[in-house]
Amino acid sequence: MAYEAVIGIEIHVQLNAITKMFCDCPNRPGDDPNTNICPICLWLPGAVPQFSLEILEKATLACLSLNCEIQPRSAFDQKVYYYPDLPKGFQLSQHHMPLARGGWIEIMDEKGDPKKLRLHHVHMEEDVAKLVHETEGRTPISLVDFNRAGTPLIEIVTEPDMRSSHDAMEFLKVLRTQLRYTGCAECSLEQGTMRCDANISIRPEGSSRLNTKVEVKNMNSIQHVGNAIDYEIKRQTESLMKNDPIVLHTRLWDPEKHITTAMRAKFEGPCIPDPAVSHILIADAWLQEMATKLPEMPNQKVKRFIQQYNLMYDEAVQMSLEREVSEYFEAVVGLGASPRTAANWIVAQLLPAIKEHGYAFSGSPVTPRRLAGVITMLEKNEINSGSAKSVLARLFETDQAPEEIVEQFGFRQVSDVKALTLLVDQVISENASAVENYKNGNQKSIGFMVGQAMKLSKGKANPKFLQEILREKLG
Ligand SMILES: [Zn+2]
Repeated sequence: MAYEAVIGIEIHVQLNAITKMFCDCPNRPGDDPNTNICPICLWLPGAVPQFSLEILEKATLACLSLNCEIQPRSAFDQKVYYYPDLPKGFQLSQHHMPLARGGWIEIMDEKGDPKKLRLHHVHMEEDVAKLVHETEGRTPISLVDFNRAGTPLIEIVTEPDMRSSHDAMEFLKVLRTQLRYTGCAECSLEQGTMRCDANISIRPEGSSRLNTKVEVKNMNSIQHVGNAIDYEIKRQTESLMKNDPIVLHTRLWDPEKHITTAMRAKFEGPCIPDPAVSHILIADAWLQEMATKLPEMPNQKVKRFIQQYNLMYDEAVQMSLEREVSEYFEAVVGLGASPRTAANWIVAQLLPAIKEHGYAFSGSPVTPRRLAGVITMLEKNEINSGSAKSVLARLFETDQAPEEIVEQFGFRQVSDVKALTLLVDQVISENASAVENYKNGNQKSIGFMVGQAMKLSKGKANPKFLQEILREKLG
């Protein structure tokens, strides 16, 4: 019998708001332990939480970017459990009345066809404190850092629409891109600003029933999510074939051994409405104002880039993956570079060079104006592509404009026909056998002769012109 996997994902995303969710402490979990704390986020008895409007705005923008329906009324519940990272005994979360319901994002399936994956809902939640396990001498100790206590999260819960590790990995990539576009979250699985749990079950192909699922946690990269899902699908399919029943439980992905292992179940208490935080009522006018703050989303941008700039689909996707890159691309084009050359240069030359020089994209010294300068000279045939790459490399080392670099290092391309003809004559007289080969129909030898002439010009000749002159001379 053929089986299929049914996969749903729950994703916690940390919002990059300035403060925590219910107090004015800074939302900077990387600071020295227990420096960003107050009675509210230490959860001392009697301290009253004050919900932050900034966080409501960011959470709403994030939901709008995922096509969710913002609910006119939402509310916080106390999710009850006790653990040293939660000494007050409950976490404020929206269980019964989430901020948003529904929503979807579109991915490309394995065949390259668009596939819509639905969301069930998105709710807001405060984070718990962080446990740090250390040893003091030979004694293992656990410390609690409250900097993370009360920091703002949204939890995105999908419908079980995914059928493979491919679906899940694409879903996470698209989700991450769309949320980053809003500027509300960094979404790094590696750095823990995005955390993901996957629910996986197996059923006979074509069946519509939902079998007992297994939850997998502890995946710190999109690749880990894919690997863990593949492992679980195989493990559960083998269990079913042996007639071993699947029981509801949680497993941890072990990235070193490439397996999942069962973990002890955590006590999950009830969710009861919180009496201290007011219900959140959202007015239409406010929601409309939020919608105007939503930037153009990557899938819309891809369509526009194809239409407006004649980019190929793949180029348009690459120019839209990150909002910063897409804005950079449009700035370079606005300064006169042709769109396809600009896109290709950004992908093949600029991005690798920025990485190699250890810059973040936004901190790179190659401004749109400087890159547009290089590309414009290339397109006007003032420099050839080899020289253009040399100019780009020097932009990381000097403040000079690309035009000045070209003058200083003599990169200007030789396009003067008279000068090039002299070079061609010299190559023809020195390479009798290549000439003979060409005349006997070997087209490749023209490339060899162009190469020889380039060498004589110290890389500055216009290779296109050289080839034309050679063909003319050799008939
Ligand atoms: Zn606080």
